[in-house]
Amino acid sequence: MPGDGETCKKLATYKSACCDVERVVAEGAKFPRCPNHPEQSTEWKPLLEPLRNKKTAERKN
Ligand SMILES: [Zn+2]
Repeated sequence: MPGDGETCKKLATYKSACCDVERVVAEGAKFPRCPNHPEQSTEWKPLLEPLRNKKTAERKN
């Protein structure tokens, strides 16, 4: 997982490892620190791409 200060290689929504804050980070941008924990470094995990796949959208309860 990329840490804060690293350069993002792909535009996506990322979640911080420390408290699951979601952030959209553009390609070429640097990963920020977590807004809730600016005093410590964190890692960012990419979320799955938004519903592009109909299989997920078809599921209804
Ligand atoms: Zn945090």
